[in-house]
Parts: sequence; structure tokens; C-alpha cells
Amino acid sequence: MLSTSSRLHTAVYAILLSVVLISATVHFTAFIAPYLEAYGVNTVTYTAVIASCALAPPASIIMALYSHKLIKVQEQLLELATTDPLTGLLNRRAFAHRYDRESARYRRTNRPVSLLLIDLDYFKTINDKHGHAGGDAALKTLSSHLNETCRYGTDDVARWGGEEFAVLLSDSGHQSALRAAERLRRQIETLQVAFNGVPIRLQASIGAIVCRKDETLEQAMQRADLCLRQAKELGRNRVMAFPEELMKADGDEASVA
Ligand code: GH3
Ligand code: MG
Ligand code: MG
Repeated sequence: MLSTSSRLHTAVYAILLSVVLISATVHFTAFIAPYLEAYGVNTVTYTAVIASCALAPPASIIMALYSHKLIKVQEQLLELATTDPLTGLLNRRAFAHRYDRESARYRRTNRPVSLLLIDLDYFKTINDKHGHAGGDAALKTLSSHLNETCRYGTDDVARWGGEEFAVLLSDSGHQSALRAAERLRRQIETLQVAFNGVPIRLQASIGAIVCRKDETLEQAMQRADLCLRQAKELGRNRVMAFPEELMKADGDEASVA
């Protein structure tokens, strides 16, 4: 929504541009008319054509430059509204949109979607030991890794909060969700975070669920968080899935750590 002052600015620019173009056309026409008349040319038609040809291109260029500027500002605003500034990952709002899209696709195609909630273990200790900047470096490294490893165009990764990340796995049932979660957990253990020449080691606990067709993101997150807390209670650095998924998972154990 445009604010009142933005509307006023737009109206003033439009009026000023019109005044400048109209007066330029009038002056230009008055200027060239005598020359055309001197050559016995039909002044009305030719002055109109020449004045339009001389003035239309600059007017179009001015409009194009303004449109370009507006589009760029719009893109910047969109990025600000949908990404997390530290990591560049999706923020909660953008993730909620992706969830709605995936949930609708699940209902339409019957191909499931899974959700992983990843929380770094003992992250406070990392901050205490390496400082807040060290913690930030670790968050950025992990974010790049998540972005690179998740399937481009189908999976979505968001920074859910502090040291928590959410991954939406499109077209994934319980088995592939558990496999993906376990793969990520192992990769996080071996991530190379270098900060001021000192390596920072990471590990994470992960809650994994297959979303239900009629479930809101809030409900899905509650279930994933339940698994995550269980993983923490059982000693961290492990993947826990929701019980009903484990029963369907043909022999997969409750914890795949
Ligand atoms: P647990 O294994 O139970 O998850 O413990 P934890 O230390 O990881 O979790 P806790 O909730 O105790 O602490 C999370 C810490 O994350 C505390 C907070 O200062 C830090 N944190 C949150 N956001 C940021 C951030 O953007 N940058 C940095 N460097 N630290 C952050
Ligand atoms: Mg946490
Ligand atoms: Mg943590």
C-alpha cells in the first residue's frame, strides 16, 4: 500500500512531467513551424510529426528509467520481507508461504511433504567460547551448506529462529525424510567452520515429521518440535521422528542417531 506522501510524490512527478512535455512540445512546434512554412511544407502535419518524434523518445526513456528504479526497489523490498538478514535463508513469513504451496500440492497430488526442524546443540557454548561473531560465522556456514545440499527449486530452507532451521522436503515420505535428516546430521558434524583460524565444531539435533494433509504449519511445527525436544532429552546429536511415521517406516528405529 502506498502511503499518502508517496501518492502525493507520484502525482506531483506525473504533473511536472506532463507540464514539461506539453510546454516543450508547444515551444518546439512554434520554433520549427516558421522554417517549415518557409519551405512551403504543410506545417500542421509535419510539425506534429517532428515534434512527436523529437519528444516521445526522451519521454519514454524517462518513464523507462523510473520503472526500472521502481522494479529494483520492489525487488529489494521483496528480499527484505522474505529473507533472514544474517544467513540469507528464507524467513518465517516466506517459509509459511512455501508450506501452504507444498501442502496444497500434497492434497492435489497425494505426494507427501516432510518437515525437518534442526537445532544446533550447545550453541550457547560456541558463542561463549568463540564470541558472538564466531557463532554468526557458524550460522552462516551451516546456512550455505543447507542451501547447497537441499534440492534446488523443490526443497525450502528457512532460519526458524536463533540457531534453529526448518527444511521442507517436497515429495518426501517418512523414509526419505529420515534419510535426509540423518545425512544432514552427519554432514553438520563434519562441517568446516573456520573463524579467526580456529575451527568451530558443530552438531545438531533434528526433529523429522511427515506433514499431514490438513495440518497448518503451526501444528506441523509443534509436532516437529516435540521430536526435537525428545532428541535433546535423549542426549542430542540425533534424529527423532514422530511415532506414527516410525511405525510406517518398515523397521526404521525410533532414533536413527
Ligand atoms: P541446546 O543444545 O539445548 O539446543 O542448547 P543451546 O545452547 O544450543 O541452546 P540455547 O537455547 O541455550 O542457546 C541458544 C543460543 O543461541 C543463545 C543465543 O544467544 C544464541 N543465538 C541466537 N541467535 C543468534 C545469532 O543470530 N547469532 C549468534 N551468534 N548467536 C545467536
Ligand atoms: Mg534452540
Ligand atoms: Mg540449540
